Amino acid sequence: MTPLDEVRALVLSHCIRGPVVSLPLMDARGLVLAEPVVSAENVPPFANTAVDGYAVRASDVAHVPVELRVIDEVAAGAVAQLPVSEGTAIRIMTGAPIPDGCDAIVMVEDTERVGDDGVRILKSVPVTSGIRDAGSDVEAGAVVFEPGVIVTPMVEGVLSSINARTVPVVWRPRVGVISTGDELVDDGSPLQKGQIRESNRKMLLRLVDESGAEAIDLGIIRDNEEDLEDTLRKATSRGMVDALITSGGVSMGDYDVVKAVLGRIAEMHWFQIAMKPAKPFAFGTMPGVGETMVPIFGLPGNPVSSLMSFELIARPAIRTMMGMPHAFRPRVTAIVDEDVNRGVDGKTHFDRVHASWRSDGRVHVRRTGPQGSHQLASTAVANAIMAVPDGTGVKAGDEVTVTFLGPDAGPVAG
Ligand code: AMP
Ligand code: MG
Repeated sequence: MTPLDEVRALVLSHCIRGPVVSLPLMDARGLVLAEPVVSAENVPPFANTAVDGYAVRASDVAHVPVELRVIDEVAAGAVAQLPVSEGTAIRIMTGAPIPDGCDAIVMVEDTERVGDDGVRILKSVPVTSGIRDAGSDVEAGAVVFEPGVIVTPMVEGVLSSINARTVPVVWRPRVGVISTGDELVDDGSPLQKGQIRESNRKMLLRLVDESGAEAIDLGIIRDNEEDLEDTLRKATSRGMVDALITSGGVSMGDYDVVKAVLGRIAEMHWFQIAMKPAKPFAFGTMPGVGETMVPIFGLPGNPVSSLMSFELIARPAIRTMMGMPHAFRPRVTAIVDEDVNRGVDGKTHFDRVHASWRSDGRVHVRRTGPQGSHQLASTAVANAIMAVPDGTGVKAGDEVTVTFLGPDAGPVAG
């Protein structure tokens, strides 16, 4: 058996960062900026008011209360027609450009309307109060983002604010997903004896999407060597995919056709990883278009094993291909709240747990249910994976290493 870290190091060494592409902003979601982004524009583009109120001369309101004549009104998107002069004010709404002649804004809460065209100012304000300068968010000519920044919704907001129509990012690899097995049924028809519903492919397609890559559904392949070889060759030689994930057929069974086919057409490494679940795992490369090599992740078919080898190996590899500054999920030291007994077998056991912050400021975990490699239902409601090192187990109160699953799977108070 090979330790997980060794397997991962080998896999990651073959999964290099992909090319830089220039994409329309709307297509760059979740990708990594590959070059510094310099703003051509000031944000905000002009000085404007941060509050609803009155544009005044600070010297006119040095002694309060004082009454000023309201000579104009300006909303966001409009421009005042008159300058503010001594003894006058202009009613102004948030985001409207600062009128000429004024040097401060008094919040509407600090005023009282007097008749049709007057306002009583109740509070003095210093010069520049309430004014947002042009370029006070982003200055024209400045570097807004360095390479390595991920295009999050917030970054997308900033890039929109500076009119970045296209952005240089590390590619979004297309990852093909194939399920293998004669027993798999996907069309809703009644199950014949020996058949099961296909589930891994759907889960893996979504996991690929969630990792930020683009999932390509290559369907279910029966345990038939020609069909599998044909599908793999087509997908790679026609440039349909930049990486491949197969589910099933990599263990010791007689019908493990993935093993037979990949052994023939790809440069493969076959592993028995020192972990439970997901001991069997395969990784390799096969030629793609031109000089490219397509990484192949051969995941075991048991649903929990499939998930675990995706999470612990394939996902960090895909994220490395995407140039992610953090290819791995967040990991913390947590407290386990129950005894977890196990036997010595040379493996790290990865149990699925619910993790939550407690009032002691620590993350606490508990297993979500049965831990068999086919029992996806209890795994599906876990928000983290707990590593139980080889040995006889851990006791309630012990510290364990926990890896969070998914962006919304952070600990919740409880
Ligand atoms: P295998 O790795 O092909 O030997 O499969 C191991 C176990 O996982 C068997 O019980 C399979 O029926 C099951 N399995 C394989 N592929 C899938 C799949 N795509 N969806 C659900 N279960 C699967
Ligand atoms: Mg199979």
